Amino acid sequence: MGTYVWDGEQLIQREHAVVDIEDRGYTFGDGIYEVFRIYDGQIFAESLHWERYFRSALAIRLQLPWTAEQLSHGVHNLIRANTLKEGIVYLQTTRGVSPRNHSFPSEQVRPALIAFTKTLLRPIEQMDRGERIITHPDERWLRCDIKSLNLLPNVIAKQAASEVAAFEAVLHRDEIITEGSSSNIAIVKNGCIMTHPANHLILHGITRALVIQLANQQRIQLKEEAFTVNDLVQADEAFLMSTTSEIMPIIQVNEQIIGCGIPGPLTRTLQSAWALLLPL
Ligand code: PMP
Repeated sequence: MGTYVWDGEQLIQREHAVVDIEDRGYTFGDGIYEVFRIYDGQIFAESLHWERYFRSALAIRLQLPWTAEQLSHGVHNLIRANTLKEGIVYLQTTRGVSPRNHSFPSEQVRPALIAFTKTLLRPIEQMDRGERIITHPDERWLRCDIKSLNLLPNVIAKQAASEVAAFEAVLHRDEIITEGSSSNIAIVKNGCIMTHPANHLILHGITRALVIQLANQQRIQLKEEAFTVNDLVQADEAFLMSTTSEIMPIIQVNEQIIGCGIPGPLTRTLQSAWALLLPL
């Protein structure tokens, strides 16, 4: 983690940052977060991340005392203070500190914000080779479009993947694949990309949205339609999408090899188009 963190007002040294035991993020997971990707010291797709952050705040009726400009300014300052070149900014906001009681605290209680940076390099080798994933039941609530701090089902699914040295756990509600524990997923069948529609069952990933644009530009057919576990294991290609993993080819699902066991041609085309978006 970088030396400094930002608390919504000022930069402070990481060791001086504390969480109150009555912070509603701590007691209820009552808050939201965003993860921004930094390439060459610049924030990638910044406005899309702020739009989603404000959408999540509205969805949980969290009244933010900061404007988008103030937030952006604070995060830019943090990146500069920590001289971050390649990595992420994690920013979370909770409904503030108040004696534990489920209903919202009074409007005088100020939301609590914390943002920190972490150096993270692009996963070049993994994107080149492709990764193995597992399937796991989707045990989450019905507002997965909100980027909420409540990530327990995601944590449990990712742990199941870690325990078998898999890269990701891809979630299914009954037979329908929704998304990964921290990524979106798409498959390719007969030249057509399919990815779950952006509704309440998935997080509306920024990477997913940009991949849809790239597919359109490249004249690759793409349908925002749900597909099944069976469709996934029988796909010609499959890939994950996320801010940190970019476009990550899937070469194996559980025991089943996908396609030829190497990243497929449409996945490669999208990865190349993606690289051109980056300020590198
Ligand atoms: N779904 C979930 C559940 C996630 O946690 C993430 C990562 N934030 C994504 C999808 C991918 O979203 P993005 O491309 O905005 O990182």
